[in-house]
Amino acid sequence: MAHRRDWLLASGSILLILTVVAVLLRLNGAYRAPTYQAGVYQDSRRIQQVLAEDRLVPPPPLPPSAFTDVIAERPSLAGADRDWNKLEPSFSQVVLHVMQRMSARGYQTMLLEGCRSPARQDRLAAQAVTVTKAKGGQSRHQYGFAADIAFVRGGKVVISERDSWAMAGYQALGQEAQAAGLTWGGNWSFKDYGHIEQPGSLKVLEQMIQQEGRHCV
Ligand SMILES: [Zn+2]
Repeated sequence: MAHRRDWLLASGSILLILTVVAVLLRLNGAYRAPTYQAGVYQDSRRIQQVLAEDRLVPPPPLPPSAFTDVIAERPSLAGADRDWNKLEPSFSQVVLHVMQRMSARGYQTMLLEGCRSPARQDRLAAQAVTVTKAKGGQSRHQYGFAADIAFVRGGKVVISERDSWAMAGYQALGQEAQAAGLTWGGNWSFKDYGHIEQPGSLKVLEQMIQQEGRHCV
């Protein structure tokens, strides 16, 4: 008799364990009805649409005629990279926000230079003190975390510290960039009025870029 009771207890326990496992699996989402999956898919698509609508889109590139005057004055600008896709995505969104604010203040702005290869950085540093003092590896331009902003007036790119309209624009750029949490080159001892960049440790930014596998070439 004792034998039979043991057997009943054992099989009863196994049944109880199996029931608990089945309930847990179901709660854990191991089983889901197809209709629920469809709902999740629709929701995520809606979220993606909302996110896409909120993302700021870079303005279309300016025609070459807009650059003739500035390149005649500063030939090194001919090799500048103006590809928005090479900037760090979250940084490019902040820059576009600053440009939107500038537009509300009556200044059309443009990306004069974004990503910069170490070789170009070295060339610029060797060329003249008026362009940059940072050597290859030292500038945030190389990591897609810096942008040089210029103004557009009458379809022409304007970079000038002698032009009072542009100087007032640089001050406005400094205010908007700093309000957005960026560092403005106009505050440096070596004035770089059109330059805005992501603050923070260069080492950390460098690590982020290495993880993303992105580099300026
Ligand atoms: Zn710069």
